[in-house]
Amino acid sequence: MTDNGNSGAVPAAARAKGIFIDNQWRPANSGKVIDVYAPGDGVAFAQIAAGDAADIDLAVAAARRAFETGVWSRLAAFERGRLLSKLGLAVLDHAEELAHLEARDTGKPITQARADILACARYFEFYGGAADKFHGETIPFMKGYMVATEHEPHGVTGHIIPWNYPAQMFGRSLAPALATGNATVMKPAEDACLTTLRLAELAAEVGFPEGAINVVPGLGVEAGAALISHPGVGFVSFTGSPEVGVLVQTEAARNHISCTLELGGKSPQIVFADVDLDAALPSLVNAIVQNAGQTCSAGSRLLVERAAYDRVIEAVVDRFSTLQAGTPEMDLDLGALINLRQKKRVETFIAQAQEAGIPLLAQGSIADGAPTSGYYVAPRLFGPVPRASTLAREEVFGPVLSVIPFDEEADAVALANGTDFGLIAGVWTQDSKRGARVARQIHGGQVFVNAYGAGGGIELPFGGIRKSGHGREKGMAALHDFTTLKTIIIKHD
Ligand code: NAD
Repeated sequence: MTDNGNSGAVPAAARAKGIFIDNQWRPANSGKVIDVYAPGDGVAFAQIAAGDAADIDLAVAAARRAFETGVWSRLAAFERGRLLSKLGLAVLDHAEELAHLEARDTGKPITQARADILACARYFEFYGGAADKFHGETIPFMKGYMVATEHEPHGVTGHIIPWNYPAQMFGRSLAPALATGNATVMKPAEDACLTTLRLAELAAEVGFPEGAINVVPGLGVEAGAALISHPGVGFVSFTGSPEVGVLVQTEAARNHISCTLELGGKSPQIVFADVDLDAALPSLVNAIVQNAGQTCSAGSRLLVERAAYDRVIEAVVDRFSTLQAGTPEMDLDLGALINLRQKKRVETFIAQAQEAGIPLLAQGSIADGAPTSGYYVAPRLFGPVPRASTLAREEVFGPVLSVIPFDEEADAVALANGTDFGLIAGVWTQDSKRGARVARQIHGGQVFVNAYGAGGGIELPFGGIRKSGHGREKGMAALHDFTTLKTIIIKHD
């Protein structure tokens, strides 16, 4: 039984997935397992091994061997790149199998799961191609000297990922670490990790050597805590809640290593009165419906210039009222939330907003036939939401959109920057000068103008500031975070 609020018996036929170390499956050292529930119907359908500190020790030792013997780290960069590219192709070859597994495990519509698997493949393609193109430089120095820099891997990197996009996160976190020669240990989320285990198996099948990729499922407080504090780990990449992010950074400080934190947001979409509403509307709505709002870069605040408020809200209300949640196979606008605890958490935000008298402008529905035992929440549109309210400031991590009016450009910028977070933002205007001006004033890692892309493409550096975290993933920028720069100074005269 997990601590996620779910209940129910696991069918006897359910197969326990093990821990993946040195390209081999093994049970947890403790012999314990964790039940896995399908969010779409709340029924336990599989089990995973409950790894703990002893299993993390074994995984880190395996990764250290792969790094120190050079079986992984001393492969030529183009050979590492070729293996990454092969894994990208294997993901595409198994796309349907992986998409169905991901959809069942996370509760998301099958079309969204298919897109996630394609993104996972793209990470391995992108970093496969980048492996032998990421290099140092020579620096002109004093006469008689030759100076060169090189990017060195950290050694063993630890990766802790959440349950919202397991397959995408597997690619996003591991591919750049592997491309630069690190050996990796991943602790996926206990609520949804079946695709990460299958992906590790595929990596072994395409030829990754033993110890390059190790995956230890288990509880955060056991396996996760052991990984972030392990002295054999040289760098930690974490995606999840700000609270655990603080623990990760504290442990990193104790071990004198660095870390990247990707901790979510309260991302604004700023809509000026000159917006091309037909072009903007799908993005204004999808940005909060995508993955049932359980996306770090969800566009959860809709800031609308008062001069266009009625026109924009009318269009958003119309669209919102048609939104439907359903099972992965129904393939509607959104699926279930990940577990009962998250469903209750989101429902608490909704109840508090209603108690505070914040007007409910529109509500979507849960499709007939979606099991009542599933963790569904109908999408809600609230507005105008008071600027100081919880709903306007805290990350709900569910399908709840807050509309806030503003009067002028400076007010929009202040409002956009007025939370503790700073991850991504959208600006909608047909005035290109204003688009550029506002984009440059927004605090955060990515700003879209006349577009909004839930984190953007694989090529685009992504990450936050303040409570959204630090460090950059995606693009060539991630390769810098997964390496350390050495300068070699040679006096030859
Ligand atoms: P969480 O931070 O507890 O879990 C994320 C990962 O961290 C999981 O793999 C978990 O096992 C691990 N973990 C948990 N405790 C740990 C510990 N003490 N040491 C090391 N690892 C640990 O997030 P959650 O409880 O699943 O979700 C809570 C909230 O976090 C959500 O409502 C949302 O606001 C936020 N969240 C953000 C993201 C994101 O993409 N930024 C993803 C998931 C959740």
